[in-house]
Amino acid sequence: MIIKPKTRGFICTTAHPEGCAQNVQEQINYIKGKVPLEGPKKVLVIGASTGYGLASRIAAAFGSGAATIGVFFEKPASETKTASAGWYNAAAFDRKAKEAGLYSQNINGDAFSDEIKDKTIQLIKKDLGKIDMVVYSLASPRRIHPKTGVTHNSVIKPISNPFTNKTIDFHSGVVSEVTIQPASEDEIKDTVAVMGGEDWEMWIQALKSAGVLESGFKTVAFSYIGPELTHAIYTNGTIGKAKEHLDNSSKAITAQLKDIDGKAYISVNKALVTQASSAIPIVPLYISILYKIMKEKGLHEGCIEQAYRLFAEGLYSDSPTLDDSGKIRIDDWEMRSDVQEGIKPAWEQITTENVNSLSDLEGYRSDFFKLFGFGLKGVDYESDVNPVVEIPGVE
Ligand code: NAD
Repeated sequence: MIIKPKTRGFICTTAHPEGCAQNVQEQINYIKGKVPLEGPKKVLVIGASTGYGLASRIAAAFGSGAATIGVFFEKPASETKTASAGWYNAAAFDRKAKEAGLYSQNINGDAFSDEIKDKTIQLIKKDLGKIDMVVYSLASPRRIHPKTGVTHNSVIKPISNPFTNKTIDFHSGVVSEVTIQPASEDEIKDTVAVMGGEDWEMWIQALKSAGVLESGFKTVAFSYIGPELTHAIYTNGTIGKAKEHLDNSSKAITAQLKDIDGKAYISVNKALVTQASSAIPIVPLYISILYKIMKEKGLHEGCIEQAYRLFAEGLYSDSPTLDDSGKIRIDDWEMRSDVQEGIKPAWEQITTENVNSLSDLEGYRSDFFKLFGFGLKGVDYESDVNPVVEIPGVE
């Protein structure tokens, strides 16, 4: 099959196996070029196939020599349809980890379910005994609640008042104004049910009850704060409510782990192009401007650079820099005043006509297609490739 990108709205419905493998390889190369991490040794990554979860898994495995189990929800290929990008990423990671002599095992299924939690616990007991870290990096539009069977759908909306601001169709480059109506009470609750911390708490509770957590165990989940410009749609919106809940869960989990000297962290990460963030209105335009400014200042990072700093300067540093509320802040460069001061005037002036000079829309687009394995150097996109790629032993 000759595989080309096919987009529908903000998603790409095809993925390239060799391009995704190259994307994973580049992240591995980055980690191998850094000072090795004094990090975890047996790690479970929930949401391990793309974005921040994949990068964290690569950092743990190739930076700290960790055995890793990855949980994700991805689609394998059929004869006529490519697999999802996360499937190809996980396959590439697994191959490279095993070649490097590292333990790697994968579970594909709904992480919100009791069944996948049970399966994961059995696998840990069988192969690793105990684990010393869980990275919780799910981003999902829905969750079927394991106890009630109710399906909750998350929405990205403001709360109380409609919010009007600029947005971009990053495929066409058209900048327009969008008004997003406020969420209903039910939509707020549903978003908290999907993206809040209840499931994270359930995972840690299940793992702890099964006796598979090492003493000194750590777990981390990811959040975002961002500048005032995005607050109505993010921090003060439905997703922000979910992140508030996630933050409360970190405290509840830490309390629960006291007897094993364990701790749960929230890491506030940089805004980056991922499958999850490209679905948020307004944010892609902000990211395009942010990329331009951070690249000009030599401060730009992708998921893998962030993941390395998360481990080196945050989770496994002797003196981690935490903010007043105890969060790890690897969004520190994004939030630097000289970066944010550059965003404001660009945001006010930006239009369809000047978008390429005031923002790094090209960089945004190329990162977006890279998520699906397109546009990587060294990959021949004209050649016939087999879309069917196995992940040996995936459960
Ligand atoms: P992503 O879309 O790249 O990754 C999501 C992962 O979750 C994938 O591995 C996917 O397979 C998995 N997943 C989704 N539903 C699942 C399910 N039901 N069962 C099992 N696996 C499932 O997302 P991302 O942007 O890396 O986001 C990860 C976390 O980081 C989220 O909490 C997000 O809010 C946070 N974050 C993202 C950004 C950003 O700019 N992208 C910034 C700060 C924080």
